[in-house]
Amino acid sequence: MKRTFDAIVVGAGPAGSSAALTMAKAGLDVALLERGEFPGEKNMFGGVLHRLTALEDVFPDFWNQAPLERHIVKKALTFMTGDASFNVNFDTEESDKPPYNGYTISRPKFDRWLAEEAVKAGATLMNRSTVDDVIREGGKIVGVTLLRDGGELRAPVVIAADGVLSFTAKKAGLRRPQFDPSHLAVGVKALIDMPKEVIDDRFGLVRDQGASNEIVGCSQGVRGGGFLYTNYDSLSIGLVLHLSSLSKSGKTPYDLLNDFMQQPQMAKQLRGGRLLEYSAHLVPEGGYDMIPEIIGDGIMVAGDAAAMCIVTGLNLEGINLATQSGVLAGKAALEAHQNRDFSKSGLAVYRRLLEESYVLKDLKLYRRTPEMLHNDRIYTQYPEMLCGLMDEIYRIDGTPKDTMTKLLLRTAKQKIGIKNLLADVYQGWRAL
Ligand SMILES: Cc1cc2nc3c(=O)[nH]c(=O)nc-3n(C[C@H](O)[C@H](O)[C@H](O)COP(=O)(O)OP(=O)(O)OC[C@H]3O[C@@H](n4cnc5c(N)ncnc54)[C@H](O)[C@@H]3O)c2cc1C
Repeated sequence: MKRTFDAIVVGAGPAGSSAALTMAKAGLDVALLERGEFPGEKNMFGGVLHRLTALEDVFPDFWNQAPLERHIVKKALTFMTGDASFNVNFDTEESDKPPYNGYTISRPKFDRWLAEEAVKAGATLMNRSTVDDVIREGGKIVGVTLLRDGGELRAPVVIAADGVLSFTAKKAGLRRPQFDPSHLAVGVKALIDMPKEVIDDRFGLVRDQGASNEIVGCSQGVRGGGFLYTNYDSLSIGLVLHLSSLSKSGKTPYDLLNDFMQQPQMAKQLRGGRLLEYSAHLVPEGGYDMIPEIIGDGIMVAGDAAAMCIVTGLNLEGINLATQSGVLAGKAALEAHQNRDFSKSGLAVYRRLLEESYVLKDLKLYRRTPEMLHNDRIYTQYPEMLCGLMDEIYRIDGTPKDTMTKLLLRTAKQKIGIKNLLADVYQGWRAL
């Protein structure tokens, strides 16, 4: 197959479909290439889909159009030790009104829907089309080759939106051949079947309300955290584990996940559920310092392929950044077509648009967060300190009480050490 388009998008995930939708709506002839049987077939995430402001003019009542599971009204942060847990819950009526702040979704359904919207706008979606390499002419990228049938597609501009490992960006020489393992995490997830009424009763939800819980201290000392999210009639439970720390531990993600699911606090919430599937995927966690070159002659990189993902421990933001960067790459391609300039400088507007948007502003703001999250104390000593403190506060055993300040200082001294605590507070203040 040999064809020529105005633009080629590699990968029909949230970044790629958003880019294709933007360009197709403006009248460009766009190829959207996806290696899966259909968009989303191989995609997974935790996860909470945060509000997609980049697509709000296209889908003003997004919540009525997109295939969503539940909108999140309850957010919790849990610190856990082997036998205790301490929760902070945030529950607001505000998040029960559209435009909702976040949703649980099924990626196979959501990604397929978004790609179909791009097709409705005029894009040509090609499933089972794995991009093998980029085509260069005179130093410029002018198309891609496909693994299947020696296919060759040409376009003056290519958008690499093929996810965290982006072979397209690698082949284009925009990212280093090897990743720094401290920049990557692996996410493992179990999907648990559970009737809607059981989920509603167990988590205190009504209608399509949903709950999310981020959990610290559940990964046996491996840096990372756990999550539990309510879907319509299933639960997503999983762990996101820093690759460097995981490989040092010698433990496997699936053993850690199984142990996590059997912890009494989690087992109670999963009771009666049936395991539907396990899945795993990498997460780019290196933040701003992981971002590769995002523009070359005839090419731009968007979404996870450009490491546009923010992990703070409270939130994981990936799809919103992927969508925003996809839309902006699409707009930059439109401008390049107007000016007939697809060179690196002709596409430089993409960087400017990203700098002006929340994408690069937030990535810069949280630049020091990945370093903070490499502090092992967060995953062991702090959950122990908080659970120990609560235990002391609530215990009534006939002995005289201490003041709160004394209790706090004593527990902090025992579990963390005052010098470490001060250093961690300073690091946390700089990172968040
Ligand atoms: C465990 C876990 C939890 C997460 N939790 C959250 C969360 O709560 N909230 C959030 O916003 N984000 C979360 N994320 C991150 C989020 O999933 C990503 O940031 C987002 O999917 C990035 O979108 P993308 O379009 O850039 O890449 P992807 O979603 O990875 O899509 C890339 C697409 O490209 C295709 N592709 C790859 N290579 C080729 C090729 N050579 N040729 C053709 N097609 C190709 C793939 O099949 C895929 O469809 C989580 C991720 C994980 C793993």
